[in-house]
Amino acid sequence: MKPVGPIPAGFETLGGELAIAGHTASELVERAGDTPLFVYSAAMIRDRVASLRKAIPERLAIHYAVKANPYPPVLEVMHELVDGFDIASGGELAIAATTGISGSTISFAGPGKRDRELAAAIRAGVTINLESENEATRALALADSAGVTPRLAIRVNPEFELKGSGMKMGGGAKPFGVDAARVPALARRIIGSGAEWRGFHIFAGSQALDPSAIAETQAQSLELAAHLAEESGAPLPACNLGGGFGIPYFAGDRELDIAAIGHALSERMNNLPQAIADTQFCIELGRWLVGEAGIYLTRIVDRKESHGETFLVTDGGLHHQLAASGNFGTVIRRNYPVAIASRYGQPAEEVASIVGCLCTPLDRLADSAELPRAEVGDLVAVFCAGAYGATASPSAFLGQGPAIEMLV
Ligand SMILES: *Cc1c(COP(=O)(O)O)cnc(C)c1O
Repeated sequence: MKPVGPIPAGFETLGGELAIAGHTASELVERAGDTPLFVYSAAMIRDRVASLRKAIPERLAIHYAVKANPYPPVLEVMHELVDGFDIASGGELAIAATTGISGSTISFAGPGKRDRELAAAIRAGVTINLESENEATRALALADSAGVTPRLAIRVNPEFELKGSGMKMGGGAKPFGVDAARVPALARRIIGSGAEWRGFHIFAGSQALDPSAIAETQAQSLELAAHLAEESGAPLPACNLGGGFGIPYFAGDRELDIAAIGHALSERMNNLPQAIADTQFCIELGRWLVGEAGIYLTRIVDRKESHGETFLVTDGGLHHQLAASGNFGTVIRRNYPVAIASRYGQPAEEVASIVGCLCTPLDRLADSAELPRAEVGDLVAVFCAGAYGATASPSAFLGQGPAIEMLV
């Protein structure tokens, strides 16, 4: 037997089934017309943003990192709730535009921005988080030929990293950002060019569950921002402090203590060095805002035994749930929270592995989990599916195609 991860708060049992916002799993599948299916809860997203607002200082704006979940109805909900959006491609810019999100609230980070992506973003009034000196040169030239004033910030590659983070994005040689030591020279060049100077973007890592590590990284980011602002010789208009807030996926993981983070940050912000005393600050979060607000529902199409082990074979798999299968940036495969949605809350009766329909041993949604006995036709729920699921998985693999998505 291998443990499964903790099921997030907010899910209910209704008529012996898993329910979201009063809708049972089978009702949702019927409404969608098929499985597999992602279901996202608007109420859970709203609760999440509200609890974050309560925990953090008022002057700290909240931005949503679109790549976590770019499903347009999710963006529409976010549009009412957050102060800005971070995008990482021209494709995400196009999705944001169709949702009515104004370019002036968007920042665009990410290496390898093409000229046409830069030009579209500059025209839309998006802040470009420049990843290199070359990118700055290209952005200035493109803005010049379009006759517009570009809004430019520098993504800083800090010397520190976010400790304990699942994905390190700073510290040492990185394709992201400009090494801190070279930032002041580039900042002076941008300020001197007549561009609208939008300050710094400091993103040091992702998926951290230790509040003191996050607080320490934020303190280091503030210090670095102050130092770089002084060296750049101009007041710092804005600073994006990154994010890194993780969610519990695996047995033993604990919910992040955002009150502790907010408290530490309030103390720092009440006592800022002169160079950043009037700076607008934001954090940008993806996973923490939407990850727990989504589930993936898939149907069991076969139940079989092999060498004494039971396999529940579903119509879903890693082509929609690459991370849950353990193939997206994890070293050791561990079980996400999963349940038999159509027998939710029933006691465990057997140990079974839940696999997908792809012809590869990598396609495993749960390994040797304790579950109620499930039969062909039962529904499986994979939790924590609201971020980096549908669009971070190879849905074209084996001709399977995308899952249905739904916001309730
Ligand atoms: C991916 C990314 C985020 C969001 O990270 P989460 O772990 O989903 O919160 C934020 N900012 C940047 C620059 C990113 O690349």
